[in-house]
Amino acid sequence: MRLLLVAALILTAVLLLASFASAESPVPNELGRVMILEYHKIDYPEERWTRTPENFRRDLETLYAHGYRLVALGDLLDGRITLPAGTTPVVLTFDDSSPGQFRYVEANAEVEIDPKSAVGILEAFAREHPDFGHAAVFFVLPAADPPNRLFNQPAYVGKKLRFLASRGYEIGNHTLWHANLGKYDETTVRAQIAGAQQWIQRHVPAYKPRALALPHGVYPKDVRWALSGSAKGIAYSHDAILQVAGGPAPSPFARAFDPVRLPRIQAIESELRHWLGYFEHHPGERFVSDGDPAVVTVPAGRRDRLRSDLGGLRVFER
Ligand SMILES: [Zn+2]
Repeated sequence: MRLLLVAALILTAVLLLASFASAESPVPNELGRVMILEYHKIDYPEERWTRTPENFRRDLETLYAHGYRLVALGDLLDGRITLPAGTTPVVLTFDDSSPGQFRYVEANAEVEIDPKSAVGILEAFAREHPDFGHAAVFFVLPAADPPNRLFNQPAYVGKKLRFLASRGYEIGNHTLWHANLGKYDETTVRAQIAGAQQWIQRHVPAYKPRALALPHGVYPKDVRWALSGSAKGIAYSHDAILQVAGGPAPSPFARAFDPVRLPRIQAIESELRHWLGYFEHHPGERFVSDGDPAVVTVPAGRRDRLRSDLGGLRVFER
């Protein structure tokens, strides 16, 4: 009888511990979906296409508290998810190179990054939370009318682009001046894309953007024009094309993952609240890392949803 009681006590303790453990660390699921967030202006006041610096900072805090960690778009495309077990990748993207995304201020004869610009907020947050990660893609416009021409500080354009490239951020193609690619012939589409890359390379030699974000979300008549080619002696090649909406992206390991049609979530209050809530209520839908970059952990019986070309990655069904 006493033995039974001891056994029951031990079982209760084990169950309690197990429930604590599952509350602490979500179950790995590397077939879950990934949010690619799309920011535009970081400025005042909060509007449809504007997030205030304070709200952007709060977004980072919310993501961090809910177990999200930043990954580079390039790493997502390569299926290189090196996050700790139990955490979820999220990708930040910034379109249109508006001034509040990256601003330098002059103070006491020094030049420093404006702590209220998106890059300043990201840098400060990464210093305070090194495990949050350090990544974002900036889809810049090199020849748009001011204020969207490369963050609108001509004297610092090179300094900014080189800072982004050297600090682990990525620079993406968004065409020369936000051209609606559906309206133009092949020659113009290719000139827009190659021309934008040429501008970026003028400041960061040999830099090759890996992704194009579609202005207005509009594809050219033939998607191949946007994927690779050359114009004016500049060769370009994109591994991904990003849309302007569409919800969370499929896992990069899933058969459904289509880098030519990557959906994004517009980072406005209502969308952020909706999708963060969605994944809280549907934890099984969310990509959760297993902590081992060499292994893809999937729910039992779901192996058939994986891509066939996983390179050298091993698959574990749990
Ligand atoms: Zn845009």
